[in-house]
Amino acid sequence: MTAERKGPMIIAVGSGKGGVGKSTLTANLAIALAKRGVKVGLVDADIYGPSQPVIFGTQGAKPDARDNKPVPLASDFGVDHLSMGHLVAPGKALAWRGPMAAGALGQLIEAHWSPDTEVLLIDLPPGTGDVQLTMVQKFKPAGAVLVSTPQDLALIDAARAGQLFDTAGVPVIGLVENMSGYACPKCGEVSDPFGAGGVEAAAGRLELPFLGRIPLSMEIRQGSDAGKPPAAGDGPNAAPFHAIAEKLAEWISARN
Ligand code: ADP
Repeated sequence: MTAERKGPMIIAVGSGKGGVGKSTLTANLAIALAKRGVKVGLVDADIYGPSQPVIFGTQGAKPDARDNKPVPLASDFGVDHLSMGHLVAPGKALAWRGPMAAGALGQLIEAHWSPDTEVLLIDLPPGTGDVQLTMVQKFKPAGAVLVSTPQDLALIDAARAGQLFDTAGVPVIGLVENMSGYACPKCGEVSDPFGAGGVEAAAGRLELPFLGRIPLSMEIRQGSDAGKPPAAGDGPNAAPFHAIAEKLAEWISARN
C-alpha cells in the first residue's frame, strides 16, 4: 500500500518510446499552466536523457542544496524545475542501474519545492522501466498524460505505458498526439509525415480521453533548443499547448 502523500499533486507525463516529444510537451504544459495561475513545478525524471535544462535555458546551472536536498531552479517562465541534468555531469547517469535511477527520482521529487506548489509535472523516461515503477509505486501520481506520435509502433508502445498506469490504479488523464501534420513554412500546405488522427483513434479504442494534437513545426523544435518554449510566447504554436493545458487544468480542479 502506498501511503497518502502530502504536498503537490503529482501528474506524470509518459510515452512508450523516446523522441516523441514528451519533454517538449511537459515543459510547455507546465508553462501554460503557470500562465493560468497554477503554481507548478517540473521534475525532469528522464534521467538517461534529460532535456529540460536545454528547453528552460538553465543548462550548466547548479541548484543550491539545503539539508542535503536540492533547491529547484527558477525559470523565466514561472516554472520551478529540477533535472538530473542539473545534478550530474552530462552522460553520467547513463551507466546507472535501475535502483540508482529510481533513487534519483526520489531526490528530485522530494527536493525543496516551494510550499505553495500545487502541481508537480513529471517528465518520465520513455517506456516502462524501474523509474516508472518507482513512480507509480512510491510516488503514486494523481494521474498520467501519455504522448505519442501517430505512427503505429509509437501507439502500441504508448498503450503499453498506459497499461502500467492502469495496473497501478493511476488514472490516464488522456492522450496527446504530437508531430501531427506539418505546415510548410513556405507554402502553408499541410502534410502528415507520420499520418494524422492515429492517436485520437487509439484513444477511442482504449476508451481514454483525447486531449489534443500538436503540429510538427520548425518553431517548436527551434524554440525548444534555444530555451524559448512556444507556450511562453504568442506565436502560432502556443495555442495547441494552451488548449491541452486548459483540459488538464479542468481535470486538476475536478480532482481538488
Ligand atoms: P522525448 O522527450 O519524447 O524524447 P523531446 O521532447 O525531447 O522528446 O523531442 C525530441 C525532439 O523532437 C526534440 O528535438 C524536440 O525539439 C523535437 N520536437 C518535439 N515536438 C516537436 C514538434 N511538435 N515539432 C517539431 N519538433 C518537435
